[in-house]
Amino acid sequence: MEASARFVCKFGGSSLASASQFRKVQAIIEADPRRSIIVPSAPGKRDAKDAKITDLLYLCQHAASVDADFAVAFEQIASRFLGIERELGLDAGLATELAALREALTHGITADHAASRGEYLNARLLAALLDAEFVDPAECVVIGANGLADPQTWALLGTRLQDASRRYVVPGFYGRDGEGNIRTFSRGGSDVSGAVAARAAGAALYENWTDVPGLLMADPRIVTDPRPMDEVTYAEIRELSYMGASVLHEEAMAPVREARIPVNIRNTNDPAHPGTRIVAELSPETIKNTQIAGVAGKSSFAMITVAKHLMNREVGFVYRLLGVLEHNGIAFEHCPSSIDSVSVVVDAACIEGRAEQVLAEIRRTLEPDALDFVPRIALVAIVGEGMSHSVGIAAKVFAALAAAGVNVRLINQGASELNIIVGVAPDDYPAAVRALYGAFVP
Ligand code: ASP
Repeated sequence: MEASARFVCKFGGSSLASASQFRKVQAIIEADPRRSIIVPSAPGKRDAKDAKITDLLYLCQHAASVDADFAVAFEQIASRFLGIERELGLDAGLATELAALREALTHGITADHAASRGEYLNARLLAALLDAEFVDPAECVVIGANGLADPQTWALLGTRLQDASRRYVVPGFYGRDGEGNIRTFSRGGSDVSGAVAARAAGAALYENWTDVPGLLMADPRIVTDPRPMDEVTYAEIRELSYMGASVLHEEAMAPVREARIPVNIRNTNDPAHPGTRIVAELSPETIKNTQIAGVAGKSSFAMITVAKHLMNREVGFVYRLLGVLEHNGIAFEHCPSSIDSVSVVVDAACIEGRAEQVLAEIRRTLEPDALDFVPRIALVAIVGEGMSHSVGIAAKVFAALAAAGVNVRLINQGASELNIIVGVAPDDYPAAVRALYGAFVP
């Protein structure tokens, strides 16, 4: 098989939480020979009351580090793995591995090392089930001091995965640091491992198998049964996730975006569903059929508005305003302006408890005619590459909000024309999201 035709398939914790889930995963992988680089997470929850193996491993390591008894939690870990191994009729040597882990915990290992064993043991099981080659990321995934994959990983892991006729299983979540110690990505980091493997192997596709039908066009806690997106661009995903939509792990996008490798979010429990494709450019069909990618938002912003007559002629006015924020260590998120006034939207948590001090400094520095502070404002973003080409999008946005009785406090359309952002009172936030979703999704 050509190297470029290979798929990297990452399976999340719920996809591998039990023996029956392992069987589903096996069927998915064996249905397509291109699915040749497999990246598993540790076993997740089987139901709402269940524990995640990774959490139990952290618990054991912490208990061991203060000389407390960790037998009960360890027994839960061991019985889950041994149960899956037994039910699948495998001998992947897990009893020996688990005995060594218990011993290592007693003698003291780092939290990263302990947590990584969930993915390590699960990958051992999956490699045995698939009769595939196990690749240990401790040898070929280097994680830098910033917590991201070090670029030397592309060649190291790429070489390790170079035989296109083989199937490999590479545990997610961990690698090693510059000194050779086991180090993990941040929580949920198997998504990152999958993206790193896709980039290193020059894969044609990164399939991310999870337990949802794809990325949803709106928050399901606000909109009933929102539609999954069929196709969305990396840039749209960036806008939606910035606005709080839960998508892939934040750090998983960079490796695939840089190499222009498409991502396909799929559901292990419904493999016939095509899921959501994340791509560099939308297909002509998507452009024709969809106006927006989705609606997302957050009600955790605050806004400062400064007005001063002839502000537009005062060189450095906004520079000095932002300087006050910088001086107070506050990042700004948006900065809509008009001729004689400018607003800065900031994360409410960053200014909480310090607003008076910041406003006093703005007053001193800029001597404004008026200064207004809104401690809480919600922003809702309507995101879509297609918006800049369609006539009447803004009209539709404001008509929908007006019909829902929502007062718009701020409007911001980024230079990229990828989104329209409206600011509304936090109490109006759910109504605004529902109205906008309803206006664009029939
Ligand atoms: N098992 C790790 C966690 O729970 C990584 C992952 O599942 O992606 O964070």
